[in-house]
Amino acid sequence: MYHYDPKSRNAEEFINHEEILETLDYAEANKHNAELIDALIEKAKLRKGLSHREASVLLACDIEEKNEEIYRLAEQIKKDFYGNRIVMFAPLYLSNYCINGCTYCPYHLKNKHIPRKKLSQEEIKKEVIALQDMGHKRLALEAGEDPKHNPIEYILESIKTIYSIKHKNGAIRRVNVNIAATTVENYRKLKEAGIGTYILFQETYHKDSYKELHPTGPKSDYAYHTEAMDRAMEGGIDDVGCGVLFGLDKYRYEFAGLLMHAEHLEAVWGVGPHTISVPRLCPADDIDVNDFDNSINDDIFAKIVACIRIAVPYTGMIISTRESQKTRERVLHLGISQISGGSRTSVGGYAEEEPADEDSSQFDLSDRRTLDEIVKWLMDMDYIPSFCTACYRAGRTGDRFMSLCKSGQIQNCCHPNALMTLKEYLEDYAAPATKEVGEKLILKEIQNIPNEKVKERVLQYLDEMENGGKRDFRF
Ligand code: SAM
Repeated sequence: MYHYDPKSRNAEEFINHEEILETLDYAEANKHNAELIDALIEKAKLRKGLSHREASVLLACDIEEKNEEIYRLAEQIKKDFYGNRIVMFAPLYLSNYCINGCTYCPYHLKNKHIPRKKLSQEEIKKEVIALQDMGHKRLALEAGEDPKHNPIEYILESIKTIYSIKHKNGAIRRVNVNIAATTVENYRKLKEAGIGTYILFQETYHKDSYKELHPTGPKSDYAYHTEAMDRAMEGGIDDVGCGVLFGLDKYRYEFAGLLMHAEHLEAVWGVGPHTISVPRLCPADDIDVNDFDNSINDDIFAKIVACIRIAVPYTGMIISTRESQKTRERVLHLGISQISGGSRTSVGGYAEEEPADEDSSQFDLSDRRTLDEIVKWLMDMDYIPSFCTACYRAGRTGDRFMSLCKSGQIQNCCHPNALMTLKEYLEDYAAPATKEVGEKLILKEIQNIPNEKVKERVLQYLDEMENGGKRDFRF
């Protein structure tokens, strides 16, 4: 039997099944324990986070007024660390060739009717130009696992192509990568290629379920997959993005596993995950969601987002276009810091609309609005859509980013960067109505920059953008 040890490099010791079961028992036994719950809420107010056990009690808590307090605290923590900024990104699907047998994913090897596509470098250019013309600056690359069709060299070449394209005032300034678990050597190559975050969803932390859900292919190796973030860190990538696919196993199990993973990365590498994603299983080609009986409703989903926010206050949280406008609206203020906009999950879907009988997409989108509609919608709710990519370009990754968060300088750094990148968007891509709302928002938000010198410089930069045609200012 394995023993729980957050410092171990062995998957079954840092994500320890027995420890999760004990955690869930503890949470269940204390879900009405008002005194303990109060103490945990007080502890969470210190903004130093909570352990997987503590956060699991809050997740299980079913005392209505305490849950209200949990939501209020999550909202406050979100405001304190992230203000009202929401970072924008888009996924870019490079290839849906895949040799894995993931039972929930339409790209699985046995799906013979999904059209298989892989973008050439020329096609990538077209996609990137289309994305730049929408206003995107940050991408998440997606690809199936297939050493023949999508070897690491292909991914590296694609990253190079993406960074090289400068169309009008456009540029992709940060490429995050969501590809299958790989070797330390390959992670090093990705780092050298200048990637932002390496994203890999655990799918499920429950080893037995994992094996059932991944019956064939390289991804069926639970330990190799679970230990991937350690190899990424070893390869020099210090911004990693975790996540589980909610709906595959019991959410409380996944929640505890996710936080144990964060604790493990902190214990071994001194820095937890840069982001946590909260995808939910969606209908897709050859996938019937009714075959999976652990789906979670919107209330539980909101509770999970709030409890993650409280447990790991510095970690960014991402929600994709899998979720509807309504759900996104509900969870944005509870802790989400990044959302996608105008997304296509098909290979080549930005440059050209696919004919209905040639659908290569990974899953159905719930939020089909354009980026401009999303930007305006966010601003109408008083959020600042941010296209900022400054931190990693200034070398503020890993623990250096975390120290910026902890130093309280975010309002003098991230806030002005968000406003300046929003200004770029308004100048170059926004519809007139969006521009009007955005200009007012920027004027109002400049007043919230505490440092007078920074404020002056922002005003000067904004003027140089508007009247001098200059771009890409950042702190
Ligand atoms: N191939 C890589 C891997 O296996 O990690 C990464 C790319 S894969 C395109 C990205 C993610 O899509 C997977 O990690 C999985 O969580 C998610 N996904 C797969 N099928 C899905 C579905 N039916 N609904 C929602 N998300 C799904």
